[in-house]
Amino acid sequence: MANPYTWLEASLATIQRADWYRSVQAIHGPPGATVQLSGQEVINFASNDYLGLAGDERLQKAAIAAIQEFGTGSTGSRLLSGHRELHWELEGAIAFTKRTDDAVVFSSGYLANLGAISAVVGRRDLILSDQYNHSSLKNGAILSKATVIEYPHCDLAALRINLVQQRQNYRRCLIITDSVFSMDGDLCPLPALLDLAEEFNCMLLVDEAHATGVMGRTGAGCVEYFGCTGRELIQVGTLSKALGSLGGYVAGSATLIDFLRNRAPSWIYTTALSPADTAAALAAIKIVQVEPERRAQLWQNVNYLKEHLPPVNLLPSASPILCWQLPSAADALAIAKQLRDAGIFAPAIRPPTVPTSRIRISVMATHRPEQMDKLVTAISKV
Ligand code: PMP
Repeated sequence: MANPYTWLEASLATIQRADWYRSVQAIHGPPGATVQLSGQEVINFASNDYLGLAGDERLQKAAIAAIQEFGTGSTGSRLLSGHRELHWELEGAIAFTKRTDDAVVFSSGYLANLGAISAVVGRRDLILSDQYNHSSLKNGAILSKATVIEYPHCDLAALRINLVQQRQNYRRCLIITDSVFSMDGDLCPLPALLDLAEEFNCMLLVDEAHATGVMGRTGAGCVEYFGCTGRELIQVGTLSKALGSLGGYVAGSATLIDFLRNRAPSWIYTTALSPADTAAALAAIKIVQVEPERRAQLWQNVNYLKEHLPPVNLLPSASPILCWQLPSAADALAIAKQLRDAGIFAPAIRPPTVPTSRIRISVMATHRPEQMDKLVTAISKV
């Protein structure tokens, strides 16, 4: 009898032959600048916990207090039994940070992108998407059923040509882009994108996942960094990186947020963010507001590493994400292993996540100079 599942093994074998095979590795103990990885203490350059808040006692206390008051689960979707005052408090704090009318929190950043994109455009509409956008933006675009055109990475001239040729053929148009590109570390040209969006009557959705808490004077993200605060756009982000918790959000005008609460399926039909995650994120936002020295230390560390790293082929970066480009997936895997043997955790990122293989180094505010020196030495030896 034919087995309809045999193709799975063949497909996995193909993935393995291409050096694209992935598997998980467990970290033991608390998150931080060093972690226990399979019994070995390693210096952690693999984390999105840019400000070192995921292990912060204040977040833990807030989460525990929320569990004691509200329980572990939210028990239902926001529109049924899942809503708590805590959600409103967090949404208010996000809107305050972003200087928007309102915000809505989702159960993850991925769901925020799926929900926002699929809610604001449909079959008769056009999405213009940066080629290097995160998977959640790309899948949100597919889910929306709009026509999707990818433009070359940060290429404003190509984007303009697409707008000139295509805009009039569609009802609404949405430009979507990461603000900090997660696997490259460079930034989108936000002010010029906003100008183009205005000129061609398009909406602009910007994913601030890696920018929130990191970019801008108060940590509000690239919108603040580029001086675009107050301009109309759709800001998406996550609570799971610099904010050390879990969840996602969309921030924008009161009308947009009201609309999403009525039309975003990944918000309406899923269980509300848990009390613990909500409380931890709220505590993190308050810390980001009152402890700018964390962000200052992060940038000091980024600059220190950039100054001291040997002349390897680094992709242009304006963020704490530094990527060392390598010729092949096999090279990236071999170097990640050598670094690991030297006590450094900096993962190989390979296709299909990215077009070319690389070692991704992500800097944290809590890295000490001697830990960064160890990375520099290890890379020099490789
Ligand atoms: N957008 C970008 C740019 C990301 O890097 C990520 C996480 N890797 C997400 C969205 C998804 O966020 P979350 O982990 O909260 O689902």
